[in-house]
Amino acid sequence: MKAITKSSKLNNVCYDIRGQIAAEAKRLEDEGHKILKLNIGNPAPFGFEAPDDILKDVIHNLPRSQGYSESQGIYSARVAVMQYFQQQGIKDVRVDDIFIGNGVSELIVMAMQALLDNGDEVLIPSPDYPLWTAAVALSGGKAVHYRCDEENHWFPDLQDMESKITKKTKAIVLINPNNPTGAVYSEEVLQGIIALARKHSLIIYSDEIYDKILYDEAKHIPTAKLATDVLIITMGGLSKNYRIAGFRAGWMVISGPKLHAEDYIEGLILLASMRMCANVPSQHAIQTALGGYQSINELISGDGRLIKQRNIAYKMINEIDGLSCNPAMGALYIFVKVDNKKFNITDDERMILDLLKQEKILLVHGRAFNIKEKNYFRLVFLPHVDMLIPAIEKIKNFFASYKQV
Ligand code: PLP
Repeated sequence: MKAITKSSKLNNVCYDIRGQIAAEAKRLEDEGHKILKLNIGNPAPFGFEAPDDILKDVIHNLPRSQGYSESQGIYSARVAVMQYFQQQGIKDVRVDDIFIGNGVSELIVMAMQALLDNGDEVLIPSPDYPLWTAAVALSGGKAVHYRCDEENHWFPDLQDMESKITKKTKAIVLINPNNPTGAVYSEEVLQGIIALARKHSLIIYSDEIYDKILYDEAKHIPTAKLATDVLIITMGGLSKNYRIAGFRAGWMVISGPKLHAEDYIEGLILLASMRMCANVPSQHAIQTALGGYQSINELISGDGRLIKQRNIAYKMINEIDGLSCNPAMGALYIFVKVDNKKFNITDDERMILDLLKQEKILLVHGRAFNIKEKNYFRLVFLPHVDMLIPAIEKIKNFFASYKQV
């Protein structure tokens, strides 16, 4: 029988966060091993609970959620997102400029499919959240990675970004606060990116899904607040700020010169209508989440769970001989550098696989985030301290004797 093969459209599509190493972890679990999964930013399995009022609202609205909604989303959710933007000083957003999706993930794919012709280029950070690169490839485009500089708070290198703009470049993607590096961009950096977008007529996609998860003095500045003359498409959602990743609720907001983008917006509306609508019960969570008490603030300040875990992860990793990382100023991750003079890492995937086999901890290797270097990994600091501390001790134990030959 002739083999059934996958579409060649998937040839360059890569999403290694749930890739081969995660499959190996599953195999070990099936054999009876207990694996600590520090590979995915999924708060619920680590005991984070959604705010009660959100759950109640979804339950309350369940009987009314049986039919499809409008493709762009229910009105109350879109009004809530609009008001959230207005509160942040972004005025030129109307209900019709908002699309509700099954998580930001769906909207990223939709936004790239509506935009790209074969060979069109999109500037994407390196390291990145790899869905952006995958979505560009799936849409026939070419992801061109710009450097983010570890020596400068992991901020984008604007010179490198500009040097990579060609006639085919259509857009710049930025992720702020950043996954995987934890960077939170300064106004100067954002203004620099906006200036490039303005100069070269590019769209900015600003992925701000972690906009409320900030540590120490970090302040998040929405990109759309800084310019009304550049088309900015902001992504946000409930998965992280409200710890309900399983609900699959996100939004995409178009701001700036929309008349100029009418045709593109028509494409977005077409794709949104082809998938009918986002999951309706979860759409009801959006208004309550954005309008209500912001319990995330308790987790990220004082002796809140997230700030404590972030501090411990940062301190303990930097105390391990040969490992180092910047402090995460936002989000849920640290991006760790492994000193290559000491460990001679030639294959980061093998390193993470060896760690999994030895210590039963699952991390993600650096190259999954579209970097060239082979000596990084990402750690999710979601576990409670009583689980996080032993986990990092195991990582220390692993690197105490590890060397690749
Ligand atoms: N954007 C970034 C930067 C992320 O880290 C994630 C998930 O980890 C997503 C988007 C996808 O989020 P959602 O759960 O809304 O699909």
